[in-house]
Amino acid sequence: MRALWLEDRALRLRDDVAAPEPPPGEARVRVRLAGICNTDLELVKGYYPYAGVPGHEFVGEVEAAPGAPEWVGRRVVGEINAACGACAQCRAGRRTHCERRTVLGILNRNGAFAEALLLPIANLHAVPDDVPDEIAVFTEPVAAALEIHQQVSIGASDTVVVLGDGKLGQLIAQTLAATACRLLVIGRQPARRAALAALGLRAAGEEALPTRSADVVVECTGNPEGLEMARRAVRPRGTIVLKSTYHGRASLDISSVVVDEITLIGSRCGPFAPALQALREGTVRVGHLVEGRYALAQGLLAFAQAGRPGALKVLLAP
Ligand SMILES: [Zn+2]
Ligand SMILES: [Zn+2]
Repeated sequence: MRALWLEDRALRLRDDVAAPEPPPGEARVRVRLAGICNTDLELVKGYYPYAGVPGHEFVGEVEAAPGAPEWVGRRVVGEINAACGACAQCRAGRRTHCERRTVLGILNRNGAFAEALLLPIANLHAVPDDVPDEIAVFTEPVAAALEIHQQVSIGASDTVVVLGDGKLGQLIAQTLAATACRLLVIGRQPARRAALAALGLRAAGEEALPTRSADVVVECTGNPEGLEMARRAVRPRGTIVLKSTYHGRASLDISSVVVDEITLIGSRCGPFAPALQALREGTVRVGHLVEGRYALAQGLLAFAQAGRPGALKVLLAP
């Protein structure tokens, strides 16, 4: 089958990747649409050593599901962490932290920039008929945005600053707006700030960054400098939620974190069912975030566009 292949920090198009055969408990999903995420761009830069097919944001149709024929033909999205179910983390209910996990397109499991992929049937979520592919393909990043709400309780009395107006920042800001908190998005791109304003959200440039006053700061700039900005904006005993993964290290004055008793929270994958629901109900709008759509054969061009500064979501259609 055709797939994008990442090896030694080089991405290439292959037509000779073996079509995967699902082991018991897993399904083969024909990919209908996939999204390029910052994590994919960072993988190419080498933030994490991975060889194989990248891609973890997708919507597809189940082609084969040994032992679970009721899934065949269903349109699905899928949680990206495949857990063993038996290790200490799994038994404690932390399946996304399974010690033996594979992660779609990120860790020991070929991903979505291919004609087909494999995932455990337990990871699949059926997509309601009234949610089109172009919207359903955002389920994974919306779930990642909603993870913040599982980790920090945010209410109407909280001042929340989102650092970053990119793909993920746009989704996070919309999920936060639903809490009625006092929300400010700090971003560099006037067009993206205008997109937020069109959704009724307050957005401004870096000059509007508050000083030591935000209850919660969500860092999703994708840049190491974002962490220092978050540190400046948060109040004593406030919380910084970290959403960016990047190649290399960020620096932070840890003593000031101690003195001001700041809580740092790493935040990754989140719940799919409420993400699908938010997309279906329009609580989170994504139509304006798509800026390109390519055939899989044009995958390298798609990556070039997705990697341009200020790029929004680029989709791949196998
Ligand atoms: Zn992603
Ligand atoms: Zn496990």
